[in-house]
Amino acid sequence: MDNILLLAHTEGDGSLGKAGLEALATAVGLGGALTVGLVGAATDAAAGQIAGCGAARFLAVTGEAFAQPRYATDAAAAEALCRAADCPIVIAAGTSRWARALPGVAYRLGGRVDTHATSLALAGGAPAVTRWFYRQRMEAVLSRTQRPWVVLLDPGCVAPWSGTAGTATVEAVSVAAPATRTTVTGYQSPKTDEQTIRPDAKVLLVAGAGWTKKQGDGAVHAVEAEQLILGFLRKAQASLGGSKSVVDLSGEGEAVLHCMTHMNQVGQTGSTPRHAKGLSTCCHGEEPHVVGWRFVNQRRAINLDAGCGWARGKADVLYVADAFEVMRRVNALLGA
Ligand SMILES: Cc1cc2nc3c(=O)[nH]c(=O)nc-3n(C[C@H](O)[C@H](O)[C@H](O)COP(=O)(O)OP(=O)(O)OC[C@H]3O[C@@H](n4cnc5c(N)ncnc54)[C@H](O)[C@@H]3O)c2cc1C
Repeated sequence: MDNILLLAHTEGDGSLGKAGLEALATAVGLGGALTVGLVGAATDAAAGQIAGCGAARFLAVTGEAFAQPRYATDAAAAEALCRAADCPIVIAAGTSRWARALPGVAYRLGGRVDTHATSLALAGGAPAVTRWFYRQRMEAVLSRTQRPWVVLLDPGCVAPWSGTAGTATVEAVSVAAPATRTTVTGYQSPKTDEQTIRPDAKVLLVAGAGWTKKQGDGAVHAVEAEQLILGFLRKAQASLGGSKSVVDLSGEGEAVLHCMTHMNQVGQTGSTPRHAKGLSTCCHGEEPHVVGWRFVNQRRAINLDAGCGWARGKADVLYVADAFEVMRRVNALLGA
């Protein structure tokens, strides 16, 4: 097996995040001689966290300039680490930070990059990447002969590495901080009253446009809908997804769910979240929406319409019922 460089950046608290530990698990599983390359303001804590991973070398680019996610500094740091490690395979988590910087680094090194890989494993003695195409409708396994081969692994596909912490001997790699025009001034979250997107939640609750439509009594009950949805999210610590129709409503002057933004949209033109279970409510289950459920293991839906899309092989269980009634009862049970 080729030698492997695992690139990882630290989080705000100096530790390695879950996505980085998942990439490390993949790197360890491949079996080649492993070098870890760390980037951050300080990397000792991160190196100690994974001291027991069996890496032959720990390299680090450190300094205040490398604390913030920014193309110029991240690319310079990663390029220096790749050159110092001189490994044919470079693995990193597909975080927004690495997704932005590493394709450019692969170009600088004369290598190739594959993004959104869901696994990297040996196939016939050579490393091969698994990747989905066409909005997760087709899966391909591909390998490359060019080196270095940089592979960005999507988070949530493997269990994160866990092992004993300790003290690692870290070799400093010096990089002159490049001239930067970008200063990170802070983070902005979508305009909602509370955090509703929880990628690590066990359950995904998806709300559709039905919550904002006239109900059996001829009236719209958007306020109660929002209370029921947020009540469930809080009690179950679930993540919130939405159909395209429901997230678009705010722009159309109709009754809206204020907890819903375009960031919540699941589907062909939205996200493809990974959760153990999903519950779809008041959502029809049309193909452009359901394609976003590709990685939700167990799917259930509540719809008044026994002929809705979910009934056509798209859900494991379909409750033909009024979602208002069901969620009132579910929340009461969760609260008990
Ligand atoms: C190119 C393209 C890309 C697209 N991308 C996406 C995408 O990424 N994501 C996406 O979601 N859509 C996408 N769409 C749109 C998609 O085809 C559907 O229009 C959309 O998903 C419908 O949203 P909905 O099911 O919430 O609303 P509706 O179709 O209006 O369905 C509402 C449902 O609520 C049910 N309902 C109403 N009241 C209740 C109640 N009290 N209890 C239970 N059920 C109730 C109704 O029976 C109905 O089935 C895309 C379309 C195209 C053409």
